[in-house]
Amino acid sequence: MTPNPTPPTFSPASSKTQPSFWTRLWALQDAYEWIPFCTFLAALVAFNSSEWSRTLHQEVWSSYSTKDEIAAALEGYAGTVMLGVYFGLYFTFALIDALQPSWLMRRRIQSHRPPPTLGTSLRTIFWGAVLNIPVDMAVNALVVSPVWRWRVGVEKVTRVPSAWECVVEFVALQVLNDVVFYWTHRLMHTKYLYHRFHKVHHTNSSVFAAAANYLHPIETLLSISPLSGVPVILVVPYPQVMWFNQLWRGYESATAHCGYDVSGVVPNARWHDWHHRAFDGNYGFSATIDHIFGTLHPQYVAWLQDHQQTFERIDVDVDVDSSGPMKADEAPATSTSTSARRNAWSDDVPDPYAESGVKEE
Ligand SMILES: [Zn+2]
Ligand SMILES: [Zn+2]
Repeated sequence: MTPNPTPPTFSPASSKTQPSFWTRLWALQDAYEWIPFCTFLAALVAFNSSEWSRTLHQEVWSSYSTKDEIAAALEGYAGTVMLGVYFGLYFTFALIDALQPSWLMRRRIQSHRPPPTLGTSLRTIFWGAVLNIPVDMAVNALVVSPVWRWRVGVEKVTRVPSAWECVVEFVALQVLNDVVFYWTHRLMHTKYLYHRFHKVHHTNSSVFAAAANYLHPIETLLSISPLSGVPVILVVPYPQVMWFNQLWRGYESATAHCGYDVSGVVPNARWHDWHHRAFDGNYGFSATIDHIFGTLHPQYVAWLQDHQQTFERIDVDVDVDSSGPMKADEAPATSTSTSARRNAWSDDVPDPYAESGVKEE
C-alpha cells in the first residue's frame, strides 16, 4: 500500500479574502443532492393523482363512518411504510456491503476501510430495532398520533389533496425536520448528553446504513421521536403526505449513513459521513443550517474539495481490482496518485470528546 502522505491542511484564516456569507452558502450547495428530494416530491404528486391512491382512499372511506376512524385507518399506513422502509433498506444495504460490488466500492467515502460484514449489519439492525422501535412507537401512539387526529380537520381525511397542497406540506415538513434535528442533535453533542447517550450512535466512525438507527433509546426519546413528531403536530399534514414523509425520512436516514457517494441517488452521505468521522460539527441534515449557525466542521470544506477532485479522477483513471472482497486496512486498488490522495485523509480527525479533550458547550 502507498504510505500515507501528510493530510492536506485547511486554514480559513490564511485566506487572503474571506468569502462572504452568501458566497460560502452558495458554494456549499450541490444540485445533485436535491435530485432524491425532488424525486420523492414528484412521486408524491404522481401518487396523489393516481388511480391507486383513489382506490385506496375509497376503500377506507367506505369501510369507516366517523372522522376519527378514517383518520386512524389512513394514518396506520404511515407505520407500515416506516417499517417497510426501515427493514427493506437496511437489509438491502447489508447485502450490498457483504457482496462489495466493485462499481460501488469505487464510490466508498472512507475508502481505507472495508464495509461491515453481514453479521455486523444484522446485529446492528437487530439491536437498533429492539432498542428503538418500541420507544418511537410508544411516543407516536401516546402523543403524536392523538394530537394529529385531534387537530386534523374532517376535510383532510375525506378528500385527496391537490398537488400544491402536497408540495407545500411536504416542503414545510422537511424544513421543520431539519430545524428540529439540528437543535436536538446539537444538544446531543453537549458534554452531558454526548457521554451518556449520543456516544452510542458515534460507536461507528465509519458508518453503514443500519448504523442510522443504532442509538441509545433515550436519544430516540429526546431526539428522533421529536424529529418525526413535532413537524407532524405543527403542520398537521394530509395522511398521504405523512406516508411520503415517513418514506423520505427512512430513505434519507439510511442513505446518509450508507458510506457511499452516489451522486443524485444518495443525499447527504458525504456530509453526515464526515460528522461521524470528525465526531463533531455538521449537525443538520445538510450544510445550510450549519452554515447559518456557524457549526460547519472546520476541516469539512477542505476535505470535500479534495474528495470531489479525487472522485472525478477515479471516474477517469480508476483501475479497480475486482478479484475479491476488500479486507480490513485494504483500500481499493486505484492509480497511485488517486490512491495517495484518498489515503491522505485516512486517519480520523481527533475526537474532541475523548478523555481530557471533552468539548464544553
Ligand atoms: Zn452526532
Ligand atoms: Zn449518524
